[in-house]
This record gives sequence, structure tokens and C-alpha cells, in this order.
Amino acid sequence: MDFSLSEKEQKLWERAKEFTHEHITPRARELEKKNEFPKDVVQKAYEAGLMNLHIPTEAGGPGLSLLAETLVSEATGYGCAGLATSIMCNNLAFAPLVIGATTEQLKTYIEPLITGKDAKFGSFCLTERKAGSDAAAVATKAVRDGDEYVLNGMKCWSTNGSVASLFTVFASTQPELKHKGLSVFMVPKGKGVKIGHIENKVGQLNSIQCEVFFEDVRIPTDCLVGKEGDGFKIAMKTLDKTRAGIASIATGVAQRAVDEAAKFANIRHQFGQPIGKFQGISFTLADMGAKTAAARWQTRYAAWLADQDLPNSKDSAFAKFFASDTAMQNAIDCVQIMGGYGYIEEYPAEKLMRDAKLLQIYEGTNQVQRLVAGNVILKESVNLDTGFRFKYDGRDAPLM
Ligand SMILES: Cc1cc2nc3c(=O)[nH]c(=O)nc-3n(C[C@H](O)[C@H](O)[C@H](O)COP(=O)(O)OP(=O)(O)OC[C@H]3O[C@@H](n4cnc5c(N)ncnc54)[C@H](O)[C@@H]3O)c2cc1C
Repeated sequence: MDFSLSEKEQKLWERAKEFTHEHITPRARELEKKNEFPKDVVQKAYEAGLMNLHIPTEAGGPGLSLLAETLVSEATGYGCAGLATSIMCNNLAFAPLVIGATTEQLKTYIEPLITGKDAKFGSFCLTERKAGSDAAAVATKAVRDGDEYVLNGMKCWSTNGSVASLFTVFASTQPELKHKGLSVFMVPKGKGVKIGHIENKVGQLNSIQCEVFFEDVRIPTDCLVGKEGDGFKIAMKTLDKTRAGIASIATGVAQRAVDEAAKFANIRHQFGQPIGKFQGISFTLADMGAKTAAARWQTRYAAWLADQDLPNSKDSAFAKFFASDTAMQNAIDCVQIMGGYGYIEEYPAEKLMRDAKLLQIYEGTNQVQRLVAGNVILKESVNLDTGFRFKYDGRDAPLM
């Protein structure tokens, strides 16, 4: 077993950390006040080669691994979870296409977006007002009309939707089949695509979400990804892959909370000594550090499984809920360790707390992650021989 990064990965990790130190951490607070898409920093990230890492080389991308993406997201998440989300959002928007589209489709629709001078954006459009955790309840419809599809419906919470050139839209082609009737389309911004309300969040203000309306939007049939009815399967495969991305942003937030709390505990004196000398503080720091390390390795393991094309639903769900729960708890502990200073804007802890909460909600809430992981554990146990037999009246008991 080798825990080290390859030379290429190590360089990427260093580059992403330097970028964060130079362009994200010093500007996160100022940009947050504007509450708008942080275009200039995202453009710099694009120029630094920190975006679109998973696009295959045949379609003009660097064809890097999911593990490589998690390194960038952890590094940028350390500086600002909102900016990290803005930077990594194309990973989510384009993942269904990398999974289900042909090389020809990727060359036509994705290559022009990732090879120009300016950063271009995609937006992943699954969620609707009545279809949140229950993704199968999608009501947006796509009806075939000759060599076109006509789309009608409304999506919400579309990250980067207001700046997107291409929307990855999940729509029903056969509503009576429920989730089996879902299909996925690449929808270029054009006639009939309208941006609605922009959400006013309390955290991750450097990432923007909006409603997107599709009104009689006509797209050629080659915008269908995979076959009609493949949408739900592609959505689930996508989320299995991208959850490691959220987990890595969460790991970055969790680590930042440890570092800021520890720095503070060294310099803040009470009762004639640094507060870090009190076990009540150092034990908390130890727990924060241990959970962060566990989150990091679980996240990298989940990404590695996906890179090997091995089943990773359970491990990516573990990574997502454990890392984001750790980020949230560490942020709260960081506020507590800083006392009153933790609760004011001049210090970083309160922002970590606001930003961390969202990590437990988007890309599948942590309850849904527990559902996914719990179901896999139950299935795995059916044929598991633990060496112990349940007995009833001296006989093996298949049911109790
Ligand atoms: C900032 C932000 C960015 C987002 N970006 C995108 C994006 O780019 N594209 C996109 O398509 N979507 C996006 N989303 C949507 C996001 O994925 C959903 O918010 C999330 O899946 C939860 O859906 P919901 O908010 O409708 O909550 P609901 O599904 O209504 O859930 C409400 C509560 O019920 C719980 N719950 C629901 N079902 C169950 C169950 N079976 N068992 C136990 N508990 C359950 C949930 O865990 C939650 O606590 C984003 C959301 C946010 C807030």
C-alpha cells in the first residue's frame, strides 16, 4: 500500500496550495461582500490549469484522475469553500457528459468551452422545486419533434447557472416510467433559456445559484447523452464520482479550522499561559485533527476507487458525510476555541461555520448519503459469513 502522491499529483497539489495562498485566502472576505460570481479569481484558476481536469485528452482536456481533482478542491476549499465550489463546478456539470457522451459529442460541445482564452462554465441542472432529494420526481419534459427535442421546465439551485454557456439538463422523455423515463441533455445557452431568481444564501457567498427556465427550447437530437432513459443511471454515477469533490472541499475547511484554532490557542493567554496548554483545548484540537486526517484519507480512497472503476457508492457517501460533518464540527469548535473572537467577521472562524453548513446539504444531503451507504452495507451483509449463526430453538434461523 502506497499513500504517496505521484510526482504529477504532488506538483498539482503544491500549485493549488500556492494559488490558494496568493489568490483565494487574501480575497475571500472582500469578494464575499459583493455576493456575485467571483469571475476574476475563477479566470485565474482557469489560467493556472486548475479547472476541467477530468475532461479526456481526446476532447482537449488534461484527462486527469478524480484523485487529482480532490487535491485541487481540498487546497482551494482551505482558502474559501465558496470559491472552491465556483472553480470545481464544471466537474459536476460535465461529469454526466464524460460518463455518457460520445467522444464526438465531447469534441463538439465541451472542447470549445475548455480550450479558449476565457473560462467558460457549465451548470448541472437536476434539482427542481419539487424534486430535491427525490431526483426521480423531475417534472421538466423533453419531447422529440423530428430531429429535435423540445424542452420545457424549470430548474433551481443551479450552481454557476447565471454564467453558464452549457446546461446539463435532466428531463423526462417518458414521464409514466418515473426515474426510468429520465434522460440527460446538453443544452447550449440560447433561445428559450432564461435565468430567474438568484438565491440569497448565508454562506459560500462566493458561489452563485439561480433558477433556470427552459421555455420551448429546441435542441438537436445529438444533444441527448447516452440513450433515452439513461438519465437516472447517469445522474447516480455522476454523484458517486463528484461526492469526493465535496468531501475534499470539506477536508480543506476542516483543516483550516484546525490550523486557525491552533494558531489562536498558541497566542491567546489566559490564567497566565497560552490557552493551548489547557487540556480542554488541546484535546479538542487533537479530535479535530484526527477527524480531518480520517476525512482526507477516506476521500482520497473514494476517489481512487472511482479512478480504478471499482464500485464506490458506499465509500463516496462515507467520504461526503464524514468529511462535511467534520468540517461543520471543526468550524464550531474553532469558533469556541477563539471565544468572542470566533464570532466576529475580522476572524476567519465564523465564515468557516457558515460555509461548512452547506457542505452537509448540497450534492445529496448527509441523510441521503447515510441512506446510500446504509443500503450498501445491508446488501453486502446478506451473504456475509461472520462465523456466528443466529439460532432459534437450536436451529439456524433465517428470519427472526
Ligand atoms: C448552495 C446549493 C447549491 C446547489 N447546487 C446544485 C446544482 O448545481 N445543481 C442541482 O441540480 N442541484 C443543486 N443543489 C440542490 C441540492 O442538491 C439539494 O438542495 C439537495 O439535494 C436537497 O434537496 P432539497 O433542498 O430540496 O431538500 P429536501 O429533499 O426537501 O430535503 C429536506 C430534508 O429532508 C431530508 N430527507 C429527504 N428525503 C429523505 C429521506 N429519504 N430520508 C431521510 N431524510 C430525508 C433531507 O436530508 C433534508 O434534511 C444545490 C443546493 C444548494 C443549497
